[in-house]
Amino acid sequence: MDSDRRKFLTATSAVLAVSTWSDATRAQVGKASVRKIATEEAFATPELVAAWLDIARSDPAASLDISTGILSIFDNPRPGSNQDRFRRQLLDIDTERLHDMDGAGVDMQLLSVTIPGVQIFEPARASALAITTNDHLAAAIARHPTRFAGLACFAPHDPVQAVREMERAVNVLGLKGFIVNSHTHDLYLDDPRFAPVLEAAEALDRPIYLHPRAPSNGMAAPFRDYSMGGSIWGFGVEAGTHAVRMILSGVFDRYPRLRIVLGHMGEALPFWMWRLDHMAARRAKDGRMKPLSLAPSDYFRRNFAVTTSGFESPEVLDLVIKVAGIENIMWAIDYPYESSRDAAAFIDGADLTGEQRARIFYRNAERHFHLI
Ligand code: MN
Repeated sequence: MDSDRRKFLTATSAVLAVSTWSDATRAQVGKASVRKIATEEAFATPELVAAWLDIARSDPAASLDISTGILSIFDNPRPGSNQDRFRRQLLDIDTERLHDMDGAGVDMQLLSVTIPGVQIFEPARASALAITTNDHLAAAIARHPTRFAGLACFAPHDPVQAVREMERAVNVLGLKGFIVNSHTHDLYLDDPRFAPVLEAAEALDRPIYLHPRAPSNGMAAPFRDYSMGGSIWGFGVEAGTHAVRMILSGVFDRYPRLRIVLGHMGEALPFWMWRLDHMAARRAKDGRMKPLSLAPSDYFRRNFAVTTSGFESPEVLDLVIKVAGIENIMWAIDYPYESSRDAAAFIDGADLTGEQRARIFYRNAERHFHLI
C-alpha cells in the first residue's frame, strides 16, 4: 500500500471513529494547543422563527431587521444560499454545530439568541418567549455541558418580569450572563425605564452582551439603501451608538460594577475613544453635558469587554489591546454567520505572546462569564 493511500485510510477511519466518541473525547481530538471558547455564537428556536415571521408578514415596517435579516434567512431562503445555511445552522445545536466546532478546534460556544431576539415583540409576549427560549437553551447545554454555555434573553420593556427571568436564568438555569440585541422598540438601555434590568445584571454579577441589530426606526432611513442596515455598517453604528449613550448618560456612575460586552472589536468605540474623551471634557466644562466621574476611556476599561467576532484585522486587534486592555478581550466567531476556522486562524496567527493568546482564546471568557 503506498503511503498516500495509507494516510487516506488512516484519516478516514479516524473520521469514522470520531462519530462514535463522546463529546469530551471529540473536544480533545479537535483541540489544538490552546483552549478555545467562542463567545458570540448564535442560535434560534422554531418557536421564535415562527413568531418573527408573523411580525415580518403582518407589520413589515416594524423594524429594519425584517428586511435586513428575518425575511432573507427564514422566509424560504434559496436552497444552497448562505441564508439557507444560516437558517439550518441557527436551528441546530447537536449535530452540524458540534461537527463544525470539532473541525475548528472550538472547545466551547457561549450561545445567545440571534437578532432581534425577543425584543421585537410586545412586552407580555416577549417575556413569555424569553422563558421558553432560555429553557430551550438550558436543555441544549444540559445535553452537552462541556461544549456549551449560554447567555439568557429577557424583555427589557417588561422590567418586572425581566428581572425575574434574569434571576431564574442565573440561579436556576445556570446561564452565564445576558444578551440584549441593542434597541428595544427604539429605546436604549440608558432610558430610566430599564434601570431595574441594569441593577439586576450588576447585582447578579453577570455581563450583558450588547449585540447589534439594525438601526432603530429613528435613524434607519439612510441605511435602507445598498444593504447598509446589517453587518456591513448599520449593526456597528447602532450598537456603537447604544454604548456611547450608556457612557455619556452616566449609567456607569449609577452602576459602577455593571459589565457590558461589545462584539466586533468594540463596535468602533476604540477608534473614537480619544475624541470621546476630548469632547466629553470640553462639554462638561462648557456645561453642555452633565459631568461624569470618569473619562469615557476609563469607563471603557472598567465597565466593558470586547470580542473579536467577525473582525479579522490585525491592525484593529492591536488598537483594541491598547484601548480595552488585554484582560478585556475575548475571542468570538459569530457562528454561523462567520467561519469558525478563519476566526481561530486569525488569533492563532496574530502577533501575540502565548499569554495574550491564552487570555483572548479562553481565560478572559472564563473570568468575565464565570465559566469555571
Ligand atoms: Mn453576532
